[in-house]
Amino acid sequence: MGDLLERTPTVSNNRGENVEQYDVMVIGAGVTGLYAVYRLRELGLSVQAFEGGGGVGGTWYWNRYPGCRFDSESYTYGYSFSEELLQEWDWKEYYSGQPENERYLNYVADKFHLRPHIRCNSQVTSVVFDDANGLWQVNIEDGHRARGQFLITAVGSLSAYYIPDFEGLNSFQGDWCHTGRWPAEGLDLAGKRVGVIGTGATGIQLITEIAKEVGHLTVFQRTANYAAPLRNGLIDPDTQRRIKASYPEIFKMCSETAGSFIHQFDPRSAFDVTPEERLEQYERLWAEPGFKKWLSNFYDVMMPGAANEDYAEFVRNKIRERVKDPVVAEKLVPKDHMFGSKRLPCESGYYEVFNQDNVLLVDVREAPIVRITPKGVQTTEAEYELDVLIFATGYDAVTGPLNRIDIRGEGGQTLKDKFANGPRTFMGISSAGFPNLFTINAASVGNFVRACEPLVDWVCEAICYVREHGYTRISATPEAENEWTKHVSEAGAKILRTQANSWFVGANIPGKARVLLTSPDTAPVMRAKRAEVAAKGYAGFLLQ
Ligand SMILES: Cc1cc2nc3c(=O)[nH]c(=O)nc-3n(C[C@H](O)[C@H](O)[C@H](O)COP(=O)(O)OP(=O)(O)OC[C@H]3O[C@@H](n4cnc5c(N)ncnc54)[C@H](O)[C@@H]3O)c2cc1C
Repeated sequence: MGDLLERTPTVSNNRGENVEQYDVMVIGAGVTGLYAVYRLRELGLSVQAFEGGGGVGGTWYWNRYPGCRFDSESYTYGYSFSEELLQEWDWKEYYSGQPENERYLNYVADKFHLRPHIRCNSQVTSVVFDDANGLWQVNIEDGHRARGQFLITAVGSLSAYYIPDFEGLNSFQGDWCHTGRWPAEGLDLAGKRVGVIGTGATGIQLITEIAKEVGHLTVFQRTANYAAPLRNGLIDPDTQRRIKASYPEIFKMCSETAGSFIHQFDPRSAFDVTPEERLEQYERLWAEPGFKKWLSNFYDVMMPGAANEDYAEFVRNKIRERVKDPVVAEKLVPKDHMFGSKRLPCESGYYEVFNQDNVLLVDVREAPIVRITPKGVQTTEAEYELDVLIFATGYDAVTGPLNRIDIRGEGGQTLKDKFANGPRTFMGISSAGFPNLFTINAASVGNFVRACEPLVDWVCEAICYVREHGYTRISATPEAENEWTKHVSEAGAKILRTQANSWFVGANIPGKARVLLTSPDTAPVMRAKRAEVAAKGYAGFLLQ
């Protein structure tokens, strides 16, 4: 701590108050924020992160709901920057659960002495650019303030939890919570009448787990999703040794795929082979763990068209086979969106839950929720009495966490106003009129740590470039921003991810502009584009 204080002189702000000053400030201490703090400190810069939660870990700190776990292979998700860390950390399961993931990130924070650079319980309410001094001021909920030349929003793409504006929620006499704010002390569900609203990736994990202990479970489903078996297991010591010996190959493989996962598409079309061979491949991949059945399939399964529909029907039949009541099965079979147009939820017994006598599926497309009552949930058809109500209703993705901070750039303009019709950035990272602000959370997708490490590295290099070349400010030019925004819209319209009503296009939030919130490009293309920009002296950026 002493070291940190020595390197953080205080300055007077416009109001004559003494505030700490840093080279770089980071908002958020999830996987991205932790790595940013590590890298910036290694570069000899003074850095401070502000984290709203009571601990580090981000997603893996907040999502304590039963069943929360990776869909990435654990050993592909860990940081790659330290060989020592790679060798001393044992991932116990192929798809590890929230407690172990949180432990890992705490281990990293301790091992690399990051905690003195992280202020927890520090929800940032506003950040304001002081044009005269070229400094950002961060204002924390508790009145604390800090200033810095550069600001990185490592606020996550899925951290602004969303609860639909149901009438009467405050009248509910039972307990309720959102999965992203699961109480640390846990929720006693044993023997209780529990309702879950939402059947996305989180709802699917949660429902499977709590169905083992609740007295009665009512599942309120708006959209049936394609879910595929996770097939998790323990990593045996021999495999552990092989993984540790293969990290360079593992990370190289991840770096070559579209989403930084370890799975590579089959370069053949589904229709290059006979129907028998096609089915054989579908079945073989289905028996494999994780995303293989999504991301190692024929390449055109991941494109709108006949191959996608062929595989979608295969998956629908897998669901039908597992649910005994054909009426319930049909409700669980997705028919309104293409397979793979949402991130594929992985499950470990989800469909069998609906064979239990104490589980009821309520289709809220047929009978919408009208209000929450003191006793439970009222739909247009019935009132469902509950002791506990759980919202697995997802997140206001990507722009949500940014919009919840009052971000004011040059001339007092707000980022929220600027992003009213969708993000306006260059490569997701920078927005004209907001100098030295890196919106890193709007630029990273896929297998997250694989994607965020090179992104953080790029931002750190940009910061060093600015400082070493005698500049004080960097921001996207309006031209580069316009070009990029047009590219996201045009290229985005052609990809599978924009074909469903998902958080990727803001469709889960009423009134949110429907635009692709992430890059339409693959991870290797994005890395190449960023490298080219840097090689050309930060082409597309205004350096002052
Ligand atoms: C349930 C769930 C499962 C997931 N599974 C996977 C997976 O298997 N593989 C994968 O690659 N990705 C997965 N993801 C995506 C996941 O979000 C990323 O893997 C990764 O954890 C993101 O890290 P991050 O640091 O960028 O953001 P986050 O982990 O979201 O951390 C952002 C942090 O910023 C803080 N913050 C936000 N706003 C403020 C503010 N105003 N002031 C102060 N602090 C603020 C938040 O409190 C949070 O701690 C999953 C997401 C969820 C929700």
